[in-house]
Amino acid sequence: MPTELKILIKRQEIEREVARLARAIEHDYKDNNPLLIGILKGSFIFLADLVRKIDMPLEVDFIRLSSYGSQTESSGQIKVLSRLNEPVEGRHVLVVEDIIDTGLTTAYFIKYLKRKRPASVRLCALTEKPSRRKTDVQIDYIGFTVPDKFIVGYGIDWNGKYRNLPNICYIE
Ligand code: 5GP
Repeated sequence: MPTELKILIKRQEIEREVARLARAIEHDYKDNNPLLIGILKGSFIFLADLVRKIDMPLEVDFIRLSSYGSQTESSGQIKVLSRLNEPVEGRHVLVVEDIIDTGLTTAYFIKYLKRKRPASVRLCALTEKPSRRKTDVQIDYIGFTVPDKFIVGYGIDWNGKYRNLPNICYIE
């Protein structure tokens, strides 16, 4: 894959949007002590920035999912690679994703979570590509709608690389 990177969303814009999402989450959850579950690895920077802007009690957990497919596309065959540490039953859970493309990964995970009987499940995604959606997964908090390009940076990788870029870029 060629590695010419172009900036799609600048770090200052990301920062503003993350603050806006944090305010919306704070407003909606008030004293509900939500459990935020980040899907690794792509959500780690987004989640770290998001929780530091939310001024109320909350807890954080992570899960690793694998999706078998090509390097740039999810196949819909998803496997849970790590277990959750925090009990989910009766909790208000907010799933935090870096990118929703076809939506297959997230739809699978939400189904998996609901079997554990949480009080509620909502979804927060930094980016989404609506043109590629294959499921009707509902995104409750959405940062940016992005075009059908392969994006990297701000935690999102290509082949394990580029997670440390401060801006969200796309590969030409
Ligand atoms: P979905 O199941 O929604 O199709 O895919 C979600 C996963 O596919 C993301 O978490 C990510 O790992 C990968 N993915 C989809 N689009 C992109 C993209 O533009 N860039 C990167 N780096 N990964 C992507």
